[in-house]
Amino acid sequence: MPYDPENVFAKILRDEIPSTRVYEDAEFIAIRDVAPAAPTHILVLPRGDGPIGPADLQDADAPWVGRMVVLAARIAREQGLTETGYRLVVNCGRDAGQTVPHLHLHILGGRMLHGLG
Ligand code: AMP
Repeated sequence: MPYDPENVFAKILRDEIPSTRVYEDAEFIAIRDVAPAAPTHILVLPRGDGPIGPADLQDADAPWVGRMVVLAARIAREQGLTETGYRLVVNCGRDAGQTVPHLHLHILGGRMLHGLG
């Protein structure tokens, strides 16, 4: 499936629709989720056209994927989540409930997070 440049995160990355940015650099932006599933719910988005999700990742992507996870941990720390804990989630495809076809990492925290189901 080709990358859809009209997906909502592509539009957010191009500033065509508004978002609440909590972080940005040359590689990533981090925004508040519009429908938060926890008191703190932040999404880390890589810039660029794709990948759609983790299934598209190749070995060559490992360095920036690693940086994305390290960045998420840093944002979680800055949001005061480290002591109580938090969850990092990357959904892939239908059965995971992925709704936006642009790879993104969820940071969830601020309450007790129960099972993964
Ligand atoms: P996923 O289900 O993993 O694809 O996650 C997509 C997330 O994007 C959901 O948690 C949505 O609430 C969130 N979302 C959708 N549209 C927007 C938007 N315009 N701004 C911020 N978050 C959004």
